[in-house]
Amino acid sequence: MSTSHEAGTATTHRVLILGAGYAGMAAAIQLAARTKRRTDVQVTLVNAQERFTERLRLHMVATGQHLHERDIPALLADAGARFVRGWVTAVDAHAKTVRIDDSRVLHYDTLVYGLGSVADTTLVPGVEDHAYTLDSAQDAASLADRLARLADGTVVVVGSGLTGVESAAEIAERYPRLNVVLAGRQEPGASMNPRARDYLRAALDRLGVQVHSGTAVTKVLPDSVELAGETSIAADVVLWTGGTRVSPLAAAAGLTVDQRGRVVTDATLRSVSHPDVYAIGDAAAIRQGYGNMHGTCQSGMPTGVHAAVSIARALDGRQPRPFRFGYYHTPVSLGRHDAVVQFTHPDDSPRRVCLTGRAAVWYKETVSASPWPTYLRMVKLPSSGAFWPHGGRFTRLRDAR
Ligand SMILES: Cc1cc2nc3c(=O)[nH]c(=O)nc-3n(C[C@H](O)[C@H](O)[C@H](O)COP(=O)(O)OP(=O)(O)OC[C@H]3O[C@@H](n4cnc5c(N)ncnc54)[C@H](O)[C@@H]3O)c2cc1C
Repeated sequence: MSTSHEAGTATTHRVLILGAGYAGMAAAIQLAARTKRRTDVQVTLVNAQERFTERLRLHMVATGQHLHERDIPALLADAGARFVRGWVTAVDAHAKTVRIDDSRVLHYDTLVYGLGSVADTTLVPGVEDHAYTLDSAQDAASLADRLARLADGTVVVVGSGLTGVESAAEIAERYPRLNVVLAGRQEPGASMNPRARDYLRAALDRLGVQVHSGTAVTKVLPDSVELAGETSIAADVVLWTGGTRVSPLAAAAGLTVDQRGRVVTDATLRSVSHPDVYAIGDAAAIRQGYGNMHGTCQSGMPTGVHAAVSIARALDGRQPRPFRFGYYHTPVSLGRHDAVVQFTHPDDSPRRVCLTGRAAVWYKETVSASPWPTYLRMVKLPSSGAFWPHGGRFTRLRDAR
């Protein structure tokens, strides 16, 4: 069965964007707003849910805190884009079609691939069966339900990266009756400067989080996690934040992907093997002067905006420009009343400057709350979303007028 997405005239250019995460939303709104007056361009966003998932805040959802409802179709309608709810099951890069789980087939002239990433539950046995993840609002709500019903006991958060740190701190603050253990290979805050790292560690200690770093978790069982060296930690609940993986759809479609399955792009964010496909956000392997970018919200939104501007340029018969991005901060919440912000060099290595305490709480909240207002502004003024810090100064897309 085919759908209305190919119902345009022969001269309609159909742009199909997959995934309404931070990157896909930025791409859809930026492009729709830029092409609103054109009748020959159709922008469609496909996503599994109609509600926007504020992934940065899923550790809050997991501790029973309520977030605003963000309605994707309504915002897209304001911007002039269409929305298709569905689960993408296949991309045919040759026929230029995308298949949805209800057998619909959508056609495209340009594809924007932004299916994001999820926690990698394949790394050790037992994770799929016995651990919670924070991949979706539903996952976070399931964990919230379990934690609320737990009178006492131990929650083991596996993965001592920043998602693990934020989650452990949030759970410990919200449920002082529970023992919270943070287990992972690296020291929490390992990527930060010593002052920020010490601050983060002291905050975890104050919240009563027990840190087991330097050992890998090798197995998750119904009531414990096993560590390398044949020790184990009893666990009533396990939250898995150890590493991420991407959808296998790009590789299955024959797009060139890196060893992690991310779409390898050229400097303009087009697939190196299929120039009619752009890749953005966590699903893309994007090279910069300092090396490959890693997935974050701060870099994901600019990739979406840049892909949209590039497509708008190409529709005007102009060449897309290279994408340039440098990291500038790592804001980390430590419960609702504490935080640390590490400012970074463009390659994400730590600067000497960091913020702590109330100033950091304000900064982190401002950053976490900013994506949706940014989308709202872009609907009216696309150029408002088209600049970001780069290498210590603001870079503006040169044609973002
Ligand atoms: C708890 C937590 C805290 C975080 N905190 C920070 C932070 O402070 N700062 C930061 O920069 N990053 C943070 N991150 C990472 C950040 O959330 C990701 O880097 C970011 O969400 C990536 O954006 P994206 O648009 O590429 O993909 P995603 O946000 O993953 O969005 C992908 C979208 O595609 C949809 N999708 C996927 N597959 C399909 C399919 N087959 N069919 C249909 N739809 C599909 C998903 O449902 C989703 O809506 C955090 C992550 C977590 C889990």
